[in-house]
Amino acid sequence: MKMGDMIDIKSNQYIKGLNTFSPCQKCQIQGCRDPNHSLGNYYYPLKAPQGAIHLNKSPRIDYDAHDLPMCTDEGCKEALANILAASTAEERKCREKVHSLKGESILLELPGFSRIRSVPHDLMHLLFKNIIPNRMDLWSGSYKGLDEGSRDYKLPANVWSIVVQKLPRLH
Ligand SMILES: [Zn+2]
Repeated sequence: MKMGDMIDIKSNQYIKGLNTFSPCQKCQIQGCRDPNHSLGNYYYPLKAPQGAIHLNKSPRIDYDAHDLPMCTDEGCKEALANILAASTAEERKCREKVHSLKGESILLELPGFSRIRSVPHDLMHLLFKNIIPNRMDLWSGSYKGLDEGSRDYKLPANVWSIVVQKLPRLH
């Protein structure tokens, strides 16, 4: 088993990176972009909003969180074969974007190594340095300039002070 943060996994697995059309190593969810920021980040909603921009105008796909299309080692091999079969550098680049892959990992030379099963997500970076701080920013109304939209999830300051009092001291 090979564990690493996303930068490490990106380099040793030859994946395109985090903010790509289909960045997940485990499932095949595809991203879309905000039509008002067509060169901005990809987002990965289960149901893309109307007007969302999809790579190469690919069709909108609605996902079931309990039944996502999962990646397989065979699917990765087929994607790499598709990339290598590109007749021009531009076409290859386009295919790399679609599959979010850049090449074959040398780790596949190891007996029993699976691109899908042998490289788990690193919980420290994924959860504690990414998702939890982002959630706290979202719930406090300070996440990348986003407002609550049509929902009501922002925690008032008095609730935050109680939450902070209940958190364990890390020092
Ligand atoms: Zn996934």
